[in-house]
Amino acid sequence: MRAVDIIMKKRFSPQEELSREELAFLVGGYVRGEIPDYQVSAWLMAVCFNGMTFTETKHLTEIMLNSGETIDLTGIAGPFVDKHSTGGVGDKISLSLAPVAACLGIQVPMMSGRALGHTGGTLDKLDSITGYRTNLTVPQFRSIIKETGYAMTGQTKEIVPADRLLYALRDVTATVESVPLITASILSKKFAEGSESLVFDVKWGSGAFMKTPEEAEKLAQSLVQTTAAMGKKSCALITDMNTPLGNRVGNFLEVEEILECLGGTSTAGGTSAAGGTSAAGKGPDDIMELTCALGSWMAILGGKAEDFASGVEMCRRVIASGAAMERFLKNVKAQGGDPDKLLADRGRRRSPYRREIKAGEAGYITAIDAFKTGIAAVHLGVGRNRTDEAVCADAGIIFRKQKGDRVQKDDIIMEIYGKDEQCFSQALPLLESALAFGPEEPEKTPLICKEITAI
Ligand code: URA
Repeated sequence: MRAVDIIMKKRFSPQEELSREELAFLVGGYVRGEIPDYQVSAWLMAVCFNGMTFTETKHLTEIMLNSGETIDLTGIAGPFVDKHSTGGVGDKISLSLAPVAACLGIQVPMMSGRALGHTGGTLDKLDSITGYRTNLTVPQFRSIIKETGYAMTGQTKEIVPADRLLYALRDVTATVESVPLITASILSKKFAEGSESLVFDVKWGSGAFMKTPEEAEKLAQSLVQTTAAMGKKSCALITDMNTPLGNRVGNFLEVEEILECLGGTSTAGGTSAAGGTSAAGKGPDDIMELTCALGSWMAILGGKAEDFASGVEMCRRVIASGAAMERFLKNVKAQGGDPDKLLADRGRRRSPYRREIKAGEAGYITAIDAFKTGIAAVHLGVGRNRTDEAVCADAGIIFRKQKGDRVQKDDIIMEIYGKDEQCFSQALPLLESALAFGPEEPEKTPLICKEITAI
């Protein structure tokens, strides 16, 4: 077999499928250092132009999955169900969803990523909890799942090395944006962590990877159909990411928002017309809606709920009873954090560098652009431009008003915390330009636009 023939087949005869053996030759050879970057780059570019069938995508996923270690969860009673989000701004749903699902008897083996580009990262949010460890060994990961029903950790070097190498190559050859390549990258990692079924939150909009609902649907179909071809069940929700999720964007700020969602008392600056309230289990509506919708699908896939409505009701019940909050704090303790300190830290951890943005005119807020907010958050220190950059746990944005709110001139819309004084010169103009005002209340748009399943 020759790499050049495989490249030619994908380039000139895209109607013919590449066989499992051909894909294993190319990807396996690349991982072993036997096939050079330039040939794999050429093949990646041909895939970008000519695509892959679901069967080819399934083969590629399995080859990538088997390129390294997989987590063995035998000895722990399932079902094992996880969620993957394609990433957004203010997306803290993993933090509320995992304890909710665990309370319903689902085991959640969750391997997450860090902030990169304008999107936030679950690991950076968790790392803002003093003492919380996100670099678990496999035995620790297993034992915490057994103890608390879920564990959250970063990817180890041993898991899916093919994805690490291919992703780095895609990044520098303008070949990231290919639906089958994204599908194989996501699924190989998710199945390596031990999940039996998956729920996908595929986001569309300015703050998402996919800019239109149609593009998001293509990715959702590919994720769901490839998962089905691998003999596993999944569901994808297509959700709106034109506006940041919830009332906070930041690392510790978002952990605080999850504490509000799961119950307990409000945090300073967190109560607002935008929906943050102090009632138990009553966080911002969008966070509650998405947590319960994704939780319901995890319960259905795990055989714990009959249908969507009863799954949602089960999620609401474990939040309202305080069981999900208890589970969250149990996991914090198991992963090295101190629940009492975490609760005492609420409302106290704010960077000393602070600004506000006020309404320049009376009217309705008609948009808060998620992409501009995400880039501003990177300048503030919430996210990073390079993988080796540090983030600031106590930086971020609190939205005191939300899209659809009526404001008077000089009402405070955002409280902004930066890593230093200098960062505001870039962050503030972006945040100001993220806001749009108008005389009319904007039309309400659905958060969850569509559901795609194969079960
Ligand atoms: N997320 C991934 O894990 N892989 C991709 O290729 C794109 C987004």
